[in-house]
Order: sequence, then structure tokens, then C-alpha cells
Amino acid sequence: MTKFSSILPITKWFDEQVYFPLIIAGPCSVESYEQIIKTAEAISEIPQVSIFRAGVWKPRTSPNDFSGKGEEALDWLKEIQSRYKLNVAVEVLSAKHVELCLNKKINIIWLGTRTVSNPYSVQEIADALKGTETIVLIKNPINPDIRLWLGAIERIYKSGIRKIAAVHRGFYPFEPTQFRNIPKWELIIELKTRFPKLPIFCDPSHIAGDAKFIFEISQKALDLCYDGLMIETHINPKEALSDKQQQITPNNLKKILLNLTICSNKDNKEHLELIKLREQVDSIDMQLLELLSYRMKIIKQMAKYKKHNNLSVLQLKRWKEILESRLNKAKQLGMNQQFIKSLLDVIHIEAIRIQSERLNKKK
Ligand code: PEP
Ligand code: MN
Repeated sequence: MTKFSSILPITKWFDEQVYFPLIIAGPCSVESYEQIIKTAEAISEIPQVSIFRAGVWKPRTSPNDFSGKGEEALDWLKEIQSRYKLNVAVEVLSAKHVELCLNKKINIIWLGTRTVSNPYSVQEIADALKGTETIVLIKNPINPDIRLWLGAIERIYKSGIRKIAAVHRGFYPFEPTQFRNIPKWELIIELKTRFPKLPIFCDPSHIAGDAKFIFEISQKALDLCYDGLMIETHINPKEALSDKQQQITPNNLKKILLNLTICSNKDNKEHLELIKLREQVDSIDMQLLELLSYRMKIIKQMAKYKKHNNLSVLQLKRWKEILESRLNKAKQLGMNQQFIKSLLDVIHIEAIRIQSERLNKKK
């Protein structure tokens, strides 16, 4: 495990697939000239940050919420690009937005979760991107519909765009959960299997919904060898006009980046294989537990029967038969006999304990 190293130019990162996480930081929205310049200035002093993000058009739930500064903010972002030598990324929701960004030479855009949920909008954006060298980040759709996400990636790819990254920002929970959006970490396996070269970033801010979880979610993503992080950072989160609970200060971002440990393995496929295998083991263990619990329930029914018919708990003949048949099966499966014998003993001891308890009960 190593800490962050120095940063290469952004296009080189995409071309060469150098393994170190790409850091994208900036406010949820551009709110005013002062706010965006101050935030950018502070972020430009954090060497690990490669891209400055800022929403200009905000697809908000309520029409009464702040919905972004629109076109005029693009000029401020352009200024930031040249003044602080920061790459700038903006969310686009339509072909018109793409055109406006291209006119201002903003060549990194992202598709938000709501846009990705609508293939018609994605196609319109893909068409507007044809023939350009734009870098496109594609968030996951609102619901965990991987095909919709893959479809959006494919639409952008088919329009000739080659510098693409997927961004995991969690999925809408129908029930309230600890986080604002539910992360589905296993999806990275599916995505990496389909598109082995596709960089996958994590947006811990929209997963968390709360600044206090940013570090742990970011670390989890890096442990899973995500290729980058998009972290909402605001000069004064308390006063933010959107997503104020989840935004962190540039100072806090600096601390988080210093404390994160990155996976030093260049070939993260090895890890993905391990993650896949772990998922299988987890699922098998859960099934084993459910079966064991079911077995114990039947044991209780047997206790009831034995009590009713005045039979003893331990029936040696039956136990011998169990051992013999299970050990034969274990042999057929090529398993260690001693291990299976020990396992059966433990299960049997517990079954006897449960039955004795029931039989000794007064009623
Ligand atoms: C954002 O990044 O500010 C944003 C609106 O994200 P999402 O589309 O993931 O909600
Ligand atoms: Mn936001």
C-alpha cells in the first residue's frame, strides 16, 4: 500500500492507464463568482487534484431549489482553467449544454444520474459529442439497472469518444438507509468484466449524503481498486446552495487525501478476481447458515416427538448411520474425512443440547 504520488496530465492518464487514482474535486454547484474562485484557488493548492468539478445546470427535485447559474458560470470556469491550470469538468444534460461547453473549450463533461436514466438524452448528448476529443464521465443511473448504465457508456463510445470513465454514485434507496444512496460495490466486477479498460471512479459525496462518511467510502473504493474519486468540495459548505451536508472544505479534502491509502497493485484484475471469489464464499456461508438453522428447527420438532413418545435423546444406532452415510458422501466429494467427522460432531453436540433442553422442560 502506498500514498498518492505526483499527478500526470489528464489526457496522459486516460491514454496510458497509469495506475493511480484520479482526484476530481469542486463544489456541487457554481453559486457566485466569489464562491467559485475562492474554492478553485484553495483546491489548486492540493497537488493530488487533477480535475475541478462544478455543476452549472442543476437538475433539482423541486422547481423552487437553486438550479444553477447557467451559461454565465462557464466564463468563470474558463477563467479558473487558465488562472489555476486546473482541468474543469461540468455536468451536461442536453446537446445544447455540450455545444456551450465546447464553445468555451471545456473538454471534460459528466452525465448525471438522472440523465443516464434517460437513453434519449444520452443519445442526444452522444450525437453532439461526435468528432470531439471530450473526456466523458458517466454516472450510474438512479436505479441499479446495470444495462442502462452499460447502454449509456456504449452510446457515448459509439459516437467516437474514447476517454470515458464510469462513476459510481450509489443508487436511490426506497427505504431510508445510513447513506443517501446505496453503493453496490459488486457492480465494479460486472463493469470491469464487460469493459476491462474502462476506468471506474467513485463519487463518495453522493453515496454518503453526509461529510462524515467521505473518508470511509473513499477508502473502501480505493481498497476495491477504483481508478478515481469525485469529491464535492466547497469553500464554505454550511452556506452551500445545494448538497450542503455532504460537501467538505478544501482543508478537509487535503487531510482526507493525505490519510487515504491506495492500492499499489497495478493490475487490479487480480483483486477483482479475489472480490468475485469472496462474494461467492459469502453467499455460500449465508446458505450454510440458513440450512443449519433449518436443520436445528427440525431437531426441535424431533425433540417434541421424542418427548411425546418417551424416547431418549441419543439414539446410538441412528448416530452411527448418520456418520457412515455422511463420511461416504464426503469421500465421494473428495473431502477430508477427519474434517467432516469433526464438523458432524459439533453439529451433533448442538443438536443434543437443544433436544435435552426441550425434553427437560417441565411442559
Ligand atoms: C452532482 O454531481 O452534483 C450531481 C448532481 O450528481 P448526481 O447526478 O450523481 O446526482
Ligand atoms: Mn451534488
